[in-house]
Amino acid sequence: MDQLGLLIANQDQKATGGGVFERLNPISGEVATRAAAATVDDAQRAADAAAAAFPAWSKTTPKERRKILLKAADLLEEKGPLFVAAMGAEIGATAGWAMFNVMLAADMLREAASLVTQIKGEIVPSNRPGSTAMAVRQPAGVVLAMAPWNAPVILGVRSLATPLACGNTVVMKTSELCPRTHRLIVETLLEAGLPTGALNAVSNAPQDASEIVEALIAHPAVRRVNFTGSTRVGRIIAEKAGRHLKPALLELGGKAPFIVLDDADLDEAVAAAAFGAYMNQGQICMSTERIVVDNTVADAFVEKLAAKAATLVAGDPVKGQTPLGSVVDQTAATRLEQLVKDAVAKGAVLAAGGKIEGTLVDATLLDKVAPSMRIYAEESFGPVVTVVRVGSVDEAVRVANDTEYGLSSAVFGKDVNRALAVARRIESGICHVNGPTVHDEAQMPFGGVKASGYGRFGGNWGIAEFTELRWVTVQDGHIHYPI
Ligand code: NAD
Repeated sequence: MDQLGLLIANQDQKATGGGVFERLNPISGEVATRAAAATVDDAQRAADAAAAAFPAWSKTTPKERRKILLKAADLLEEKGPLFVAAMGAEIGATAGWAMFNVMLAADMLREAASLVTQIKGEIVPSNRPGSTAMAVRQPAGVVLAMAPWNAPVILGVRSLATPLACGNTVVMKTSELCPRTHRLIVETLLEAGLPTGALNAVSNAPQDASEIVEALIAHPAVRRVNFTGSTRVGRIIAEKAGRHLKPALLELGGKAPFIVLDDADLDEAVAAAAFGAYMNQGQICMSTERIVVDNTVADAFVEKLAAKAATLVAGDPVKGQTPLGSVVDQTAATRLEQLVKDAVAKGAVLAAGGKIEGTLVDATLLDKVAPSMRIYAEESFGPVVTVVRVGSVDEAVRVANDTEYGLSSAVFGKDVNRALAVARRIESGICHVNGPTVHDEAQMPFGGVKASGYGRFGGNWGIAEFTELRWVTVQDGHIHYPI
């Protein structure tokens, strides 16, 4: 098997000392990828390379940057089969999920290409006679980008597309769980014509993550950090970034509520809930984790969703076309098993699924879930969704907000004004009325509140994250000074 090196200054390099780590296929246990295990020195070299590339890349014209980003989008689509193979082997993803990743990620590159002419400033009226005062946005410097394994192409591309479009250079710290998939993204952008050092990839052994990330955040050329991952690690990143006074964009965990009001179209709600809860085995930050249903429609809703869930079996994506693939590893499967057992022991009703074989977990539905159960509060990040029954709209809102997280959410109800009023009361960055909690588009403001993090990817909001806003004046004529 080939061994992946680090990509620093457009060169494939071994780690200093020759360190290597392995990612195993979650279903077969065979080695899926062997990749270089960077040292702190290697990480610093990557940041140095990005710093060296910054002066030239930050001065490229919008036209040059757009051309490269558009070409990268086309190349990414051409490499679809490579991504399907890498994601199947590294994370047990279905081909459908991999191709969806490639499609949305290509969209994100095209959207980033369209942003290059949107990095605008303003003339601000000044109280000083003869002063032309400008608010201008400039590239910030080197951006440290970190993305998780679960939607590796979408989130990997998201971590670097807007930063590059804004004229920054980037060091991507790839996920230990999908180093090949993440590296393919970097290779694609380099092939599209990014100049030497504008984008670098550093892979690391899991046990070295803390010191590698620390070194990268501390590097003086690094001016922005973006991290998509768990709330646990997000807090660590926020602390490290805070210590070095580096702004960070944090996209963290979720426990998305899905409210079914008494006037909801139940068939539409069931279809959206099943998609949101079980797509990619529930391993999406926006995955529907908590269905909050009005008592009057709860029996009918649960019956329909259980029937749908029963059709969603898990299998090895390499062997056949099952609707669900594998969860990411045995630890995740064991955790899910414990969450289900704990809930059932405390009175939850297993309405569908519950079968777990190795890393294959069938779509599971737990009804009558209560706050005493672990799964009420903990992110399951698997194909297990909970139902809490409620007696009023106010109770539905209270239960929906009874979580540390606040990323995505949904409300189903035919009276759209009433559903929208409920949506406004939910503490989340994203809420869809009569649509699934899982929905992402490149141009939308994407991000969470509370323990789901802060900052927004997407459109002009992304530009604000990855540029420095400066006040620059030009004086015409004499200024009177008091001394
Ligand atoms: P994770 O937090 O375990 O991320 C692992 C990353 O953190 C790796 O890159 C690892 O090297 C690094 N890391 C680990 N320990 C560290 C330390 N001590 N210091 C610094 N870095 C360290 O998350 P994951 O398992 O890759 O992803 C799953 C999580 O991501 C879920 O919670 C999910 O909800 C969340 N997620 C959020 C979004 C979003 O947009 N909000 C999207 C997808 C996934």
